[in-house]
Amino acid sequence: MIYEVEHLSFKYSPNGNTVLDDISFSLDKGEVLSILGPNGAGKSTLLGCIIHLLHPQIGEIWLDGKNITGMFPKDIAEIVSFVPQMHTPTFPYTVFNFILMGRASKIGMFERPGKEDIRRTEQVIEEMDLGHIAQIPYTEISGGERQQATIARAVVQDPKVILFDEPTAHLDFGNQLKTLRLIKDMSDRGYAVVFTTHNPDHAILVGGKVGILDRKGRLSIGNADEIITEDRLKKVYNSDLKLVHMKTLGRNVCIYPNL
Ligand code: ADP
Repeated sequence: MIYEVEHLSFKYSPNGNTVLDDISFSLDKGEVLSILGPNGAGKSTLLGCIIHLLHPQIGEIWLDGKNITGMFPKDIAEIVSFVPQMHTPTFPYTVFNFILMGRASKIGMFERPGKEDIRRTEQVIEEMDLGHIAQIPYTEISGGERQQATIARAVVQDPKVILFDEPTAHLDFGNQLKTLRLIKDMSDRGYAVVFTTHNPDHAILVGGKVGILDRKGRLSIGNADEIITEDRLKKVYNSDLKLVHMKTLGRNVCIYPNL
């Protein structure tokens, strides 16, 4: 197993609310876990815990067989890449250099990127079809292209797991689909992938494991059919959502009621 999370509970302060309550799951190579849940349920907090930026009060997290509490950040970065939510860039690095920065965990503190770092960056740029923007400043590309560049930066790190925090949040429909295809493709290529989303259809489309965090910080986890039920969606989102089976697509879709 790449990840084993056992009975994890987390609070931001000793007298504060329990944000994550007794969460357990495991994830193997080639598996995808999508995490759904209303605003404030604790999705980002959960990602923070599993990359060891936040330290749960209760529970154990095993990463590639090692207890994460004994690992150095550099060792964690060798295994896990984190793609944060899209941010507004400040520095006009070229897209090439921005992606190359993903190699940081492999480069010594006072070293410059070596031939292998450059070769791997060129390879990922080609694989992801980003050659046409490689020499353009990162500040001058579109939101969708920025998202692709951020994903490429995670891929050059050559991790075993990629975590995405709301990868589709600021994208138009076409780029959302492109990103979901990329996530699926990554799991087909053997990466373990975890992503958070506000859209149950995204979890259904990508398949694999689905976890829904409720407002009490409890995670229900299983395959999409088991977990994404109309009843659960109604409760979790406190709305009269409908889940409809589309024969032509061969899957369920989640739709809003009339206003
Ligand atoms: P989500 O990603 O599902 O929207 P978050 O993980 O961001 O939810 O937040 C979960 C809960 O933790 C919320 O109640 C939020 O207000 C609280 N929270 C988030 N970050 C902090 C923090 N740094 N300090 C205290 N409380 C926080």
